[in-house]
Amino acid sequence: MKLTILGCSGSLGSPCNPGSSYVVSTEGNPDVVMDLGPGALAAMQERFNPSEAHVVFSHLHADHCSDAASLLVWRRYHPHAPARSRNRMLGPSYTPEHLGRLGSDGPDDINDISDTFEFAPWVSGEPVAFEGVTITPFPVVHPAAESHALRVQDNTTGRVLTYSGDTGFTQGLIDASTNADLLLCEAAWGPYPDGQPEGMHLTGAEAGVVAREAGVGTLVLVHIQPWSDAEATLAAAKTEFDGEVVLGRAGAVFEV
Ligand SMILES: [Zn+2]
Ligand SMILES: [Zn+2]
Repeated sequence: MKLTILGCSGSLGSPCNPGSSYVVSTEGNPDVVMDLGPGALAAMQERFNPSEAHVVFSHLHADHCSDAASLLVWRRYHPHAPARSRNRMLGPSYTPEHLGRLGSDGPDDINDISDTFEFAPWVSGEPVAFEGVTITPFPVVHPAAESHALRVQDNTTGRVLTYSGDTGFTQGLIDASTNADLLLCEAAWGPYPDGQPEGMHLTGAEAGVVAREAGVGTLVLVHIQPWSDAEATLAAAKTEFDGEVVLGRAGAVFEV
């Protein structure tokens, strides 16, 4: 499978990097996009067909789903290439209402998205099979209700990539990442602990510990805010993990 980073800026978009959004592609199958942060749809238009992709959400903080409202507009009203059938959507149980409010006309309105998406909620630990990949959600530790890390396995090759979503340090993320070929791991708290609240995000060093304990192949650090020191965060991860560690960037493609 191929992983394309549409954007991986932490907590908000930055000038050349949209908010969190990752496309998983397999030959001859619909793409699966994981999260749709601010600016993601603009990046998606460059290389993918937004009208033909399944959508899954790690959680529903705005920096992971705000472009879903724009995606609804594209799929419904694009004059030449609207969605011709429903795609699947997986996420927290309240996703339809949450996105329905994002795309609503007023305070009492909830836009019904069932015309263009067939929604089902994640059930922690239960795999969901798509055409090319199977995704298993693992509960993680984060303030947003029903936050998950997503373990993505190629149905043909068996290769695995794991996306941390947003999370504090938790065994759940290590379980989700066990022996993954690639781990997309958030590192929102900078290089090392510095008095940040618990149960919300990871430091670079903690991302390195997760990668080491899970035995992953390549660690890709993501969700680093525009104001953070990305190089110091990378260096901190490398003190804990001997394997390949790289910084995520918009447009990067990984063959997994
Ligand atoms: Zn986030
Ligand atoms: Zn979050």
